[in-house]
Amino acid sequence: MNTTKRTKIVATLGPATGSKEKIREIIELGVNVARINFSHGTHESNGQIIDYVKELRQEMGMAVGIMADLQGPRIRTVVDEDVEIEKGERIYVYDSSVEKSEILNPEIKIVGLDWPGIVADIEIGNDILIEDGLLRINVVEKGDNYLVAKVEDGGVVKNHKGVNIPDAKLKIGAVTEKDEVDLKFALGKGVDFVALSFVANAAEIIATREKIKKMLGRDEQIPLIVSKIERKEAIKNIVEIIKATDAVMVARGDLGIEMEESKVVIYQKEIISRCLRNATPVIVATQMLNSMIENPRPTRAEVSDVSNAVIDHTDSVMLSGETANGKYPAEAVRVMRDIILKTEKSPFDILAHGFLGDKSHTVSAAIAHSAHELLKDTNSKAIVAASTSGFSARMVARHRPDRPVWVMTNNESVHYQMSLVWGVETFVLPECRTLDELIDRSIDTLLKNNLVEPKERVIIVAGRPGALREHMSLVKVEEV
Ligand code: PEP
Repeated sequence: MNTTKRTKIVATLGPATGSKEKIREIIELGVNVARINFSHGTHESNGQIIDYVKELRQEMGMAVGIMADLQGPRIRTVVDEDVEIEKGERIYVYDSSVEKSEILNPEIKIVGLDWPGIVADIEIGNDILIEDGLLRINVVEKGDNYLVAKVEDGGVVKNHKGVNIPDAKLKIGAVTEKDEVDLKFALGKGVDFVALSFVANAAEIIATREKIKKMLGRDEQIPLIVSKIERKEAIKNIVEIIKATDAVMVARGDLGIEMEESKVVIYQKEIISRCLRNATPVIVATQMLNSMIENPRPTRAEVSDVSNAVIDHTDSVMLSGETANGKYPAEAVRVMRDIILKTEKSPFDILAHGFLGDKSHTVSAAIAHSAHELLKDTNSKAIVAASTSGFSARMVARHRPDRPVWVMTNNESVHYQMSLVWGVETFVLPECRTLDELIDRSIDTLLKNNLVEPKERVIIVAGRPGALREHMSLVKVEEV
């Protein structure tokens, strides 16, 4: 039985974890991926954190991944001073790149949105939600460069607050001018993942991947794209998004504003289950231990939330403000790790036979399935997967075996990118020319790391050396 935690932890780093010692502490406690949120900080502060993580993963010999999370097309309010709006009142909404004087009646209250051309994309009947949905106005009239909206949930509109317009078909790409600059910076730093905020469809993901290749001047060894599911459009296009992306984040903060909060957990379960079937790594994010930003202990409901995400078979769970700017970042990681370990020991964590319902009849899927069956039937110690692209590792891991999945790769990028994948531990091997060489080198590595003993059995899965990527053709029971 495996004694280390299998569900991975993504921790957002920020002022509360800005020193090398703090980062070392939380890695020791179980952080697998360091997320840097480019909505906050400067290139200097974010760059320093990335440098610390890179130094530490070398020093500690741990495959900690680094994720640059781009702000994306976050629309914000523009007001000169606070504007109090009351239920039933009618107000103007305008595109703040347009002169305010061009907008009609000066007696009527006016709120700007900082997105050039946004008025054209909003329709009569659309709700506009301000500041995490605390305020809601509904569009009742549309002019050339302004809207008239009726206040449904009133309050005070402050400057620079986030805006969501769930039903609008916004013609704004996933990568803004600010994101382009941040992306170039993050690529220069050699990050392993790029998270795209407010993704709407597969085309945006494909275009971003091309942009990354162009910026890096290469097609291989590029960061994986993590698509954040937080818009109504993304839920509608979830099938094509999962096909196009490398990984998914259930970004429950904005998702709970764009959709009914009561359905967020249903989307979480649906998205995880689709990702599992597609062998796409998935992260459950936001407010998992939110009260620990202020308190040393979590609420019972938060503990239950983390536990249930593990039972849903997510690959990773994420900490945001808890580790970025909370008072108890190390405690939050410790609590999350303990919940994961206890949940994984319970019978509820076991993936029910047939859950994957795979009818693809691909050789790779069958090999991964057989490896899982052989693992149990031969009572072997672990599955050892040779993986140059990470595909074989993901295919094996999606069965959620109760024993280790050790992945041998000749690709350093894959070594770090597997940090997001449930239950996988990676080792870097030189390129092997024959299968025998691959098996010998793998066993040597496991012996050197005291992971196996002579006479123990492991299940080997591999493709033919030099054969096509994303193809597994062999499963073998090997005695050490
Ligand atoms: C979210 O909205 O849940 C989320 C993860 O996005 P961010 O933290 O970037 O706002």
